[in-house]
Amino acid sequence: MYVFVKENENEKTFINTGEILSILESTKNPESEKIRNILQKSLNKERLTPYEVATLLNANSDELWEEIFEAARKLKEKVYGNRIVLFAPLYIGNECINDCEYCGFRISNKDVIRKTLSIEKLKDEVKALVTKGHKRLIVVYGEHPMYSPQFIAKTIDNIYNTKVGNGEIRRVNVNAAPQTVEGYKIIKEVGIGTFQIFQETYHIPTYKKMHPRGPKSNFAWRLYGLDRAMLAGIDDVGIGALFGLYDWKFEVMGLIYHTIHLEERFGVGPHTISFPRIEPAVGTPTAKRPPYQVNDEDFKKIVAILRLAVPYTGLILTAREPMNIRREVLKLGVSQIDAGSSIGVGSYSEKDPEVIKKSQFILGDTRTLDEVIYELLKENYIPSFCTACYRAGRTGEHFMEFAIPGFVKRFCTPNALFTLNEYLNDYASEKTYKIGKKVIKTEVEKLDTKQKETVKDGLNKIDKGERDVRF
Ligand code: SAM
Ligand code: SF4
Repeated sequence: MYVFVKENENEKTFINTGEILSILESTKNPESEKIRNILQKSLNKERLTPYEVATLLNANSDELWEEIFEAARKLKEKVYGNRIVLFAPLYIGNECINDCEYCGFRISNKDVIRKTLSIEKLKDEVKALVTKGHKRLIVVYGEHPMYSPQFIAKTIDNIYNTKVGNGEIRRVNVNAAPQTVEGYKIIKEVGIGTFQIFQETYHIPTYKKMHPRGPKSNFAWRLYGLDRAMLAGIDDVGIGALFGLYDWKFEVMGLIYHTIHLEERFGVGPHTISFPRIEPAVGTPTAKRPPYQVNDEDFKKIVAILRLAVPYTGLILTAREPMNIRREVLKLGVSQIDAGSSIGVGSYSEKDPEVIKKSQFILGDTRTLDEVIYELLKENYIPSFCTACYRAGRTGEHFMEFAIPGFVKRFCTPNALFTLNEYLNDYASEKTYKIGKKVIKTEVEKLDTKQKETVKDGLNKIDKGERDVRF
């Protein structure tokens, strides 16, 4: 029997601190040959075992790390190609009854401005996002009785029903507190994409220290939060760790154990992994000086190892990171980024600098969506707003992308080009339009003859005004 709520403090979960520490210890100073064999396994697109991941984490020379980075870049190209999916976070409310040491929303922080969007204000926010060209959102909520499953469902429903001209939000992912199975079922009803819960840290003593009060202080309730989502029929879940609370190598191992647990129990691993680094937040000393701050070099290592460890899992990078870091880790394995983000509650439709300054944390990349798209195009990526699989009922889509031969070619690339073309026609600046059309042309030329015709046909339909063209 699996545990959903840990009633007994000593009950075992799938995270065994002693085991992780001992694997990390026993794999120290690995031989080059061993590392190279593991890299080969990754390049054959197989998920790595905890032992293999620990071996990579313990690579101890610059040369070996360069080989690891190179393998991650290769794998990224091989599995994902040059598509990058774009989304925006939308903060619905920051009332919170927890006291997470690192978060600006925590209950004891008197410096943060507390707000919850009214439905009218929520619609203003959605309109502002749609007008910029967004199609995919992640909605974010503090943990508070106000944010019941019914409230969450109602806000998402209103997002889907807010149309502006040619545009609308087509996929809403959720980052909210862990729910009961019944609660998840209510949220699932309105049609959500991924339900994300970050464990923050997999190191139990650190977890206890960082979450001293409130429902979040229960490590196991959170750890099994996505099991309950799966039991409620949400088969698309995202895990994550907040880097800076404990040793980064330990956290990477925690993420791998979590992945394996979901795979073993439900036959499908997480759709995405997030790996935010702690950012400074107003009135929050722990966020200013995290106990295990991760430097840029180690951050690159985290991305590369995750890419190699779980070849078929999407990796999400957020605008918490500055532009130069974003650029580097895109190459190493990131498949989704947010762009044009604002994390103040209500700050897309109303730019109040005070609200932005006094929000959850401070963003590192504040470029507009159009600027990000322009940069991506310049570097030969295909920015994509694709939501086709989820809406065609191809659930577990992320897995399908790779499990079905030719899937990426048949669906992902054309859909990425279609959504990019929509963006260019409806929202792009002149310079983005120009380069975007050029990139589309180049990408179409790479397709085989039969596909070229159907994709050209779809692109023409969009040029003539048709929207939401997809395979
Ligand atoms: N309240 C819900 C929860 O805690 O799961 C969901 C929203 S919470 C704002 C979303 C995530 O923000 C948390 O899981 C945490 O990883 C991240 N976060 C909190 N404080 C942060 C900080 N100072 N810097 C970066 N990320 C932070
Ligand atoms: Fe609340 Fe989530 Fe912030 Fe913790 S991380 S204080 S639960 S909003």
